[in-house]
Amino acid sequence: MKGEPELFNEIDLDKYESLKEAPENEPERQYYYMAKCRELIGLIEKKKGRKLTVYNLVVGCQMNAKDSEKIQGILTQIGFEKTDAEETADMVIYNTCTVRENANLKVYGRLGYLNSLKRERPDMLIAMCGCMMQEKHVVDTIKEKYRFVDIVFGTYNIYKTAELLYLRLTGGNMVIDIWNENKGIVEELPAVREYPFKSGVNIMYGCNNFCTYCIVPYVRGRERSRSIENILEEVRSAVAAGYKEITLLGQNVDSYGKDFLRNHEEEKLLSVSSAVGEGFTEALKAEPFAALLKAVDQVPGVERVHFMTSHPRDMSEEVIRTVAQGTHLCEHFHVALQSGSSRILKAMNRGYTRERFLALVKTIRKYIPQAAITTDIIVGFPGETDEDFAETCSLVEEVGFDSAFTFIYSKRSGTPAARMQDQIPDDVKHARLQKLMDVQNRQSLCINRKLVGQTVEVMAEGPTEKHPETWNGRTRGNKLVLWQQNHTVKSADSSEKTIHSEEGSSLPIRPGQLVQIKIESAQTWLVKGTRIN
Ligand code: SAM
Ligand code: SF4
Repeated sequence: MKGEPELFNEIDLDKYESLKEAPENEPERQYYYMAKCRELIGLIEKKKGRKLTVYNLVVGCQMNAKDSEKIQGILTQIGFEKTDAEETADMVIYNTCTVRENANLKVYGRLGYLNSLKRERPDMLIAMCGCMMQEKHVVDTIKEKYRFVDIVFGTYNIYKTAELLYLRLTGGNMVIDIWNENKGIVEELPAVREYPFKSGVNIMYGCNNFCTYCIVPYVRGRERSRSIENILEEVRSAVAAGYKEITLLGQNVDSYGKDFLRNHEEEKLLSVSSAVGEGFTEALKAEPFAALLKAVDQVPGVERVHFMTSHPRDMSEEVIRTVAQGTHLCEHFHVALQSGSSRILKAMNRGYTRERFLALVKTIRKYIPQAAITTDIIVGFPGETDEDFAETCSLVEEVGFDSAFTFIYSKRSGTPAARMQDQIPDDVKHARLQKLMDVQNRQSLCINRKLVGQTVEVMAEGPTEKHPETWNGRTRGNKLVLWQQNHTVKSADSSEKTIHSEEGSSLPIRPGQLVQIKIESAQTWLVKGTRIN
């Protein structure tokens, strides 16, 4: 359930309003532009006699979702109100994804729609940002065919949203600002978190792996870890604000901190060692990610800690042991398999074999027999034969993943795989995807059925949209659970009414609360049960 947007790290902008020039240093420079934009937006508000609204669409992975929280934080600080009504919004911003081609095509489709909106309301603002904008041909197309777009920026400079908006409001022309590399991580910006009880926390940006099919390293740059101090600070402040569940985010979380060690910047890892106990310094040097997990586990008030994505090549036994010994570290591993064929894994530049992946799963199960293991798989990579594909299906059956994101290989220009011979025909790719989904769905149902009769800890998320008496939540393994719940809601006139369900629990409930649910039935994507506490 999404809550009312709440602004974190609110900045006192008043003192920046009177400055004559923008400071050089970040984040002060951005505070200055936020103050300037607030002034301009205030004037437009006065003229219109109402607050201005922004429709903020995010496509793609959790990194993009996290970036959009920051963009929304900046826009909220400036004075925009978030809206779900794109057709009447004063500003529309799309945070785009380019991992697969169909995401790109959808954006072009929506730009056509935005053009029709802008013809009716020429003063609306349109901004495009994110991974797709890091591709030169995309920006060229926007410049040529979509002249009505106001602001275009990429993945490295989202923290400059206010500065770019100011340029557009005071300039008049389309503002384009695309960087080809990261020029430093800017902390201490406002953010609006999407959910009232769970939050993602970036631990690193970018990726060094260059899997041959993947565009991420080209559009998000090389790996850059955040300092452990900044990460812990963000976790502490999220917990203080009532957040119970933290997901540590990175393209390859297992390589967290290794860039500091490579670049002789150990101080960024070691600066908080005294706060986390004896021996921590050595642990950080040896296994930065495992040590980070331990430190986050110890933050008072944190209830659940997830992390994603894990790379099978880099995940260590120490990380698994740490999860097994942790208190709040959830027994859930999202380890991206991609293919069950060692030959294809090699062509993908993944750095492990089928056998090594199976050995990793064995190690996870040795320490944590009940661990939930989820994955990502691509079908139809260039040169994938029926035999290679059969190996993927057999591995899926052997492992028994709780769930899997399955993708059809999508050719991304500029990546090595796009130039490979033996591209697989579309009909073959589609047939393989369907077959793999059937195999995985059977597995998921089978695993979910084993939960029937068990009582599981669930973090309540909120009522489902269609049936308010049905609540949903997630297990520690991230499985979706539904149950009946009587609860009180506020209607539009602010009067309160209780929604009753025959067999629903009448115990009080709020999003983020941990409840015990006895599982009674299972489906492929979810399980259902009764609340018992
Ligand atoms: N860093 C993560 C990892 O390696 O597991 C995943 C990041 S990527 C945004 C999410 C997933 O998209 C990948 O795990 C992969 O399965 C899929 N993906 C990436 N490039 C793709 C492509 N060209 N075609 C199809 N799927 C792709
Ligand atoms: Fe892409 Fe591979 Fe990096 Fe994941 S690890 S983001 S799939 S290059």
